[in-house]
Amino acid sequence: MKKTFLIISLLVSISAIAFQQDPKKEKSETLAKNGMDPVCKMTVKKGTKLVSTHKEKQYGFCSKMCKESFDKHPEKFVKN
Ligand SMILES: [Zn+2]
Repeated sequence: MKKTFLIISLLVSISAIAFQQDPKKEKSETLAKNGMDPVCKMTVKKGTKLVSTHKEKQYGFCSKMCKESFDKHPEKFVKN
């Protein structure tokens, strides 16, 4: 009996740890709708995780490289 209790309490603590780590995963932002990569003018699909927000507008990128160049000088790629 004691052994069973030990295994159950072990499982409970493992799932408690797993639940605690969960909220962190939900923080990643994704592109809300299909758009255009302002750096290379390529079409970017909704749901991509390579996104940046500049002046309350969301931009999606085809690659990490494009996102990095935009983040350095967003005004270079956005025309008002
Ligand atoms: Zn690009």
